[in-house]
Amino acid sequence: MTFLSLRSVFGISAVIVALCGLLFTTPSHAQDKPRFNVIRDVEIEATLKEYGRPIWEAAGINPDSVHVIVINDPTLNAFVAGGQNIFFHTGLLQATETPEQLIGILAHETGHISGGHLVRGSSAMKEASAEAMLSMVLGTAAAVLSGNPNAGAAVITGGQSLAQRSILSFSRAQESSADAAGMKFLDGAHISSRGLLEFLQKLSGQELLPIDRQVEYLRTHPLTQDRIDAVRYHAGQSSISDTKVSKRLYDLHDRMRAKLLGYLKPESALLRYAEKDGRISARYARAIAYYRKGDVDKAEKAMDALIKEEPANPYFYELKGQILFENGRVDDAVRVYKKAVDLKPDAGLIEASYGHALLEIQSSRYLDEAIVRLNESLKTEPREASTWRFLATAWGRKNDEGMVSYCLAEEALSNGDIGSAHKWAERALKLLPKGSSYVIRAQDIKQTRKDEDD
Ligand SMILES: [Zn+2]
Repeated sequence: MTFLSLRSVFGISAVIVALCGLLFTTPSHAQDKPRFNVIRDVEIEATLKEYGRPIWEAAGINPDSVHVIVINDPTLNAFVAGGQNIFFHTGLLQATETPEQLIGILAHETGHISGGHLVRGSSAMKEASAEAMLSMVLGTAAAVLSGNPNAGAAVITGGQSLAQRSILSFSRAQESSADAAGMKFLDGAHISSRGLLEFLQKLSGQELLPIDRQVEYLRTHPLTQDRIDAVRYHAGQSSISDTKVSKRLYDLHDRMRAKLLGYLKPESALLRYAEKDGRISARYARAIAYYRKGDVDKAEKAMDALIKEEPANPYFYELKGQILFENGRVDDAVRVYKKAVDLKPDAGLIEASYGHALLEIQSSRYLDEAIVRLNESLKTEPREASTWRFLATAWGRKNDEGMVSYCLAEEALSNGDIGSAHKWAERALKLLPKGSSYVIRAQDIKQTRKDEDD
């Protein structure tokens, strides 16, 4: 896989996380750190993009230009920021009971994108990973709001939730217009708006709670009875209100929620998905929970049974590869990851895991193949900082200091660390041979600015 890794925005290096397999480490000083942890998972992102595609098409937005980003946070929230990026808290994903509810929220967020209710991005942001970008969005917005260019850092080290609330929240007028646009997109995609209605009603129960106990979603998206009435009216009028999305989309929703629970709360997953529950989603949740609890044998057996049932499912091989890799069975992991990549060649994160496993075999025989695979993964995941770090390691083994410097410049850029990116790019320009195709890219990195809008 990509391991379903959690990466702290400023905290633990993803590389260290990957090598130690300490996927869910919380820094001991977590209190001063932002709460954001981005989860990268090919399967869940693919599900969200499949849900979003008809909505974005109805909105006249190119689906390939929209990014969906999952944040590990138990609160219910979703928001748009930094361009065409839709962020979902795991809490919200898990609180939706049907795909229609989730697609309704997605349509509403798309309404914010099409309405242009966004914090603008800088050129550095486009080059940054999702987590670095998010911290920039918060920093920039804080600085803009307070008129103080140094405010960003203060807000980020302070209460993140507060920052998010004040910066990313929309006006009531914007909320109503996002609902209206969202319902139009749902109609265009022939998807019932009743899911949106159900979810807003679920949230409205929260409005009666004291403000510190309300869900985040209400803070960023103020909810009024007018909004609920408008969506109810629309759903009442529409001829497609009683239609459901396909069984396949329901199945994807089940698997997504099962996977998240298995990873994030293995104990709860084993309770909710009891042994006698033979559904694939339930068995998947249990396999992940066993793995998260360190019961490798049970996890491996469960994965083998799932693979037998769905031998063309790349995500099952990906997870099995991860289990093997993290338990030191690197050769086995390589074989299984290869299968996952063959089944899903366009998934950069899976290919990066494969390349990383090849690199960990520590044999020069696999070094060139590791470089090929890591480079291949960057075609679809160019801002994955850990991949650049793996590549730097690979080039280091070949004693190519110019390429090491270049890769570290890209890594720093992905992390939003423009200062280090400039330094490494400068070093790369000194060491790379004239005529190297990487020289131009290193020059570009040297020109990246942090704050300029494009
Ligand atoms: Zn909203």
